[in-house]
Amino acid sequence: RTMDFEYMQSEWWAFKELYKKGLIYEDYRSLHICPRCETTLSQGEVAEGYKDIKDLSATLKFKVKGTPHFAEASRGMQENTYFLAWTTTPWTLPGNVALAVGEKIKYVLVEFENKNYILAEERINDVFRDKEYKIIREYLGRDLVGSEYEPLFDVYAKDENLKNVKNGWKVYVADFVIEDGTGIVHIAPAFGADDMAFGKQKNLPFVQHVKMDGTFKEEMGELAGLDLKPRADEKPESVRKADIEMLRVLGDKVFSKNSPLHSYPHCWRCDTALLNYATSSWFVAVEKIKPLLLKTAKKINWSPAHIKEGRFGQWLLGARDWSISRQRFWANTIPVWRCDKCKKEFVFASADELEKTSGVKVNDLHKDVVDQVTFDCKCGGKMKRVPDVLDTWFDSGSVPFATKRPIPADFIGEAQDQTRAWFYYQHVLAGALFGKEAFKNCIVTGIVLAEDGKKMSKKLKNYPDPTEMMEKYGADAMRFYMLNSPVVQADNLSFSEKGVDEIAKKNISRLYNVLSFYELYKDDTLVNSKSKNILDRWIIARLGELIATSTEGYENYKVDVAVRPLTDFIDDFSVWYLRRSRDRFKEQDGDKKDALATLRYVLHTISRVMAPSMPFFAEYIFQKTREIDEPESVHLASWPDLVKKPLFGSDILTKMSETRSIVNLALAERIALGIKVKQPLSLLKIRNSKSEIRNDDELLNLIKDEVNVKEIIFTDKIGKEVELDANITEELREEGILREVIRAVQAERKAQKLIPQDKISVRILAPEKEKLIIEKNKEFLLKEFRTTDILVKSGETLLIKIDKK
Ligand SMILES: [Zn+2]
Ligand SMILES: [Zn+2]
Repeated sequence: RTMDFEYMQSEWWAFKELYKKGLIYEDYRSLHICPRCETTLSQGEVAEGYKDIKDLSATLKFKVKGTPHFAEASRGMQENTYFLAWTTTPWTLPGNVALAVGEKIKYVLVEFENKNYILAEERINDVFRDKEYKIIREYLGRDLVGSEYEPLFDVYAKDENLKNVKNGWKVYVADFVIEDGTGIVHIAPAFGADDMAFGKQKNLPFVQHVKMDGTFKEEMGELAGLDLKPRADEKPESVRKADIEMLRVLGDKVFSKNSPLHSYPHCWRCDTALLNYATSSWFVAVEKIKPLLLKTAKKINWSPAHIKEGRFGQWLLGARDWSISRQRFWANTIPVWRCDKCKKEFVFASADELEKTSGVKVNDLHKDVVDQVTFDCKCGGKMKRVPDVLDTWFDSGSVPFATKRPIPADFIGEAQDQTRAWFYYQHVLAGALFGKEAFKNCIVTGIVLAEDGKKMSKKLKNYPDPTEMMEKYGADAMRFYMLNSPVVQADNLSFSEKGVDEIAKKNISRLYNVLSFYELYKDDTLVNSKSKNILDRWIIARLGELIATSTEGYENYKVDVAVRPLTDFIDDFSVWYLRRSRDRFKEQDGDKKDALATLRYVLHTISRVMAPSMPFFAEYIFQKTREIDEPESVHLASWPDLVKKPLFGSDILTKMSETRSIVNLALAERIALGIKVKQPLSLLKIRNSKSEIRNDDELLNLIKDEVNVKEIIFTDKIGKEVELDANITEELREEGILREVIRAVQAERKAQKLIPQDKISVRILAPEKEKLIIEKNKEFLLKEFRTTDILVKSGETLLIKIDKK
């Protein structure tokens, strides 16, 4: 879409707005390129590839021009006096535009073989070694400033149109000069960030004699086309042939040469020696608007919060002007037309503006189209587009206004590597164009790694295929797994299939079972939350708690906080609420209505709470529980209302939690005693005489039911937290057997998928003792099974069969 005509026009508009505000300028940009890959490398990439190589260094003779102001007392100087400067990169010498000396460094004029040389006093012994020389005079660096010298190559110095040409090929003072080499530094602004900065500061001419592919330009005469650096397939340690050729061409302008070991950056991809290369570029003056950007950034809410002053804030503090032009083909174009004679510029904000001035209508702003558009300048010259295209970050930074969205946007989210990219460029453009921040809230995610903690790699196949994962576990399980993970707090996540499986089982399967149960028993009962039943009141309180936490999480853009409590809720809902409530649905009285109304209410509400995190399943549940006049989809329904905290936060939550913990302890105790739950016991003692629940019959009944005991007492006089009376009386045994029979019949009904209305006949095989008990209670069982037909025979073990009538 960034390649749509409208989108591209928006970027033209933005460019012109920035241009009008004086926030666009053209300058040179220093970068490292690999001449073999013909790409630019980032600072990080450059730092990775330093290697020691043997370089060819040389000391060059720069001939002093005319009679310099410092020459009054010297003899013969006009004819043959030279500055000596040293370089480890002879290939840069055609780009030389100045020499630099240290202001307070001592220099000497030395006579050697009928010629005069100027160099730092400190360096004489090294440069002249055992040669015979005579010191004629001494100077300070500042005495030499302003003197002119003859360029080693005159092709650029002769060009009267070269910008700042009058400032070139002179001696300047620079504070970075030290007594190294000859104490005089060769300055070539096209090759190195320091030199370029110095060139800008002194308004020096800019000379680029090398092409992007690392060969000399045509104007270099016999050197034209020569490769600068050894390619990777050549020996990288070899002394460079371009340097050798350069020194050969320079002939007697070379004073001496040497091959020192030298640390030099190489391409990390292909090992080719890099070029430090400057090219012309268009910039957005970010530093000029930095105070504004820092101010607007204060308004952004970040999740996690530390990004604000950390990763993003620090990056913004150090923000530099943004180079927005590239020398590529397939990208949006820079809308600047410039006269080839008088250099006058036109900037266009749209195709219409271009048409008004040029008379040419275009429907596409790509390079191949708009580069054809030229028109006459008043001076008689030709207006042509500057050849560059826009950086792709200019495209993505333009998203807010190019897609006509409100600025600032409410919310954006992306991975942490975008803090210095997409987030940053949007913020810069929104600030520069509208004086605003680009977005109000931003969620920064981490990176999803393979299970082994390594980067996911197609080659290593160290991660499962996402499509297969979706097929196997569903998109909701994948989505919930991610949202529930540290990745939403800008931390990295080691992706684990087991984790997704667990989410699918814990959340989706369990809730699906609850829904199936509801489907089985549902009637026309409407959603209602007013039931007085203890389990209903509890699950509604839990739901209120869930809504509160989830709402707070989403409102603060803390997605994990918003989604995490769902798992516990679903657990409570299925493992406790539904299991404890099961029997209520089978009854025919008012409690069934309450249970159904509550179950429908909870399912209906939770579908809305789940909608952002499990959208498909949420929709499924919503459709099964929605009422006639409600929105068609859960994604059109409103977020559940917040219940005031005291309402749900009443003691029911803590009381239920104590109840469940007692149940768990008592059941563990049964396992320790080896007594099955279906065998009723007479007494459970609980060691907490002041328990909150000791007078709450509803909760005590829950415990009695769940633990299958007749009585509960609270006391402080036992050793363990709970204690069961393990004595099984005849009466208890009888009850246990009847219970077992009833359970077995229920299980059979379920296995045969019978509905409650189905009538059955029952056949029982039982050992003698059990048989007696069953026969004794036949009347009771006939009523329980709502049948007239129970057949009991002797058998080895208790075996129960049913048949649908
Ligand atoms: Zn390379
Ligand atoms: Zn013109």
